[in-house]
Amino acid sequence: MASTSTDHPEQSQREDWTWPSLREAQRAILLDVLLHGRRSRAELGRRIGMTRASLSRLTRELSALGLVAETGVQLDGARGRPSETLEIAPEGAQFLGFKLTGTSLYTALTDLSAQVVLIESEQLPSREVGDVVDSMRRATDRLRERAPRLAAIGVCLAGDVHREPERGDVVSGSSFLGWEETPLQQLLVSATGLPVTISNDVQALTTAHHWFGAGHGTRSLAVLGVGEGIGCGIVVDGRRVHGAHGRPGKVGHLAVGGDARCDQGHRGCVSAYATVPAMLRAAGASDFAALEAAARSGDERADRAFRDAAAALGTVIATLASLIDIERVVVTGEALAVAQLHRDTVDAALRARLDPVSVPPEIVLHPFRFTDYAWGAAVTAIHSLV
Ligand SMILES: [Zn+2]
Repeated sequence: MASTSTDHPEQSQREDWTWPSLREAQRAILLDVLLHGRRSRAELGRRIGMTRASLSRLTRELSALGLVAETGVQLDGARGRPSETLEIAPEGAQFLGFKLTGTSLYTALTDLSAQVVLIESEQLPSREVGDVVDSMRRATDRLRERAPRLAAIGVCLAGDVHREPERGDVVSGSSFLGWEETPLQQLLVSATGLPVTISNDVQALTTAHHWFGAGHGTRSLAVLGVGEGIGCGIVVDGRRVHGAHGRPGKVGHLAVGGDARCDQGHRGCVSAYATVPAMLRAAGASDFAALEAAARSGDERADRAFRDAAAALGTVIATLASLIDIERVVVTGEALAVAQLHRDTVDAALRARLDPVSVPPEIVLHPFRFTDYAWGAAVTAIHSLV
C-alpha cells in the first residue's frame, strides 16, 4: 500500500515527510508524465495497458500524495470523448544534487520536474572524506528550509563508482579527491537520513540529458564531455549502461591516429589531442580561455590544436556509432568550442571512420555550465526513486 503523507497532513508535511513507496504501475504513470508532460488519462491507460477504473484509482492516490495534478479535460483523440488530463506536480518533492571537485562543493536543488530552484557553491574545508561528508550534511540541513519535501540526494564526481551489495555505491577511485574505495553512499545516508545515490559526473550528466536535456526523447544516446579529460556516458535501449565495473564509456585512450602521445605514452591516442592539457601543450599555451580566444581569431597554432582535437572527436563519435548504432551524440564540456569552431572537421572525421553501413548519429553541441553537473546529480536522485 502506498503510504502517505495525506493520512495526517497536519503533521507530515515537514521533517517527517519521506518519498512514498509506490507500486510499479504508479511509478510507470509518474515516469510517463514526468518525461512526456501532460497526458490524458485515456492515453495513459493505453500506454501503460490499464483499464480506466484501475488507472483512475492509481492516479487518485498519486494525486493525493501530491505527486501529480489533475489539470483539466481534453478530447481523447481516438474516441472523441472528454478525458481528464494529468501532469507532474513540480512541488511534490525536492531533490539535492552535489558535484564534488578536489576543492569545491556545487549544490543544485531541483523540484520533481528537475527544474533548478537554487544553485550554490562553496569551498571544501579539505579533501578528507569526513570533512566532505560533513559539508554535504550541513548544506542539506540548511536547504531543508527551502525543501519541505526533500526526497533524495544525488552526488557526482570525476572518478569511478561501482555498486556493491553490502556497501552500496562505492567511489573506487577519484584522483581529484585522492579517494580510493570510499563507501560514500553509506556515509551520506548515515549523515542525512535520506536516500542517496552516487555517480561518475559524466554518467550523471548523461542521465540528466537523456531524461530532461539535449538527449530527451532518444532511445540511444552518448554524452561526450570534453575538458580536462574526455568522458562519455552511454544510453542503449532507453537505459544508461552501467558496465560490469561501473566504468563504461572509457573513450579517453581510444586510438585515433597520428603521432602525438598522451601522458600514458600511447601513440595516436585521443587524449593526445582532444583534452584541454593536450591542446595547451600542442599550442604552447598555458590558459585555455586565451587559447580559445586565439583560435577564434584565427591564430595558426591555436587553430591547428583545435582542428586536431576536432578530428579526434569525430573519430571517437564514429567508433561509438559503429559499435552501438547510436541515435544522438551530445557534445558538451569546457572545451566545447573545439566542435563549435570546427564542426566541419568533426563531421569529416566521422564520415571517414564510420563503418560503411552505419548511419551517422545526430550531433548536438550543448553549451556547458559547470553547475550542470550538480543538476545532473539531482536528476540521478529523481531517477533513483521514480
Ligand atoms: Zn592514451
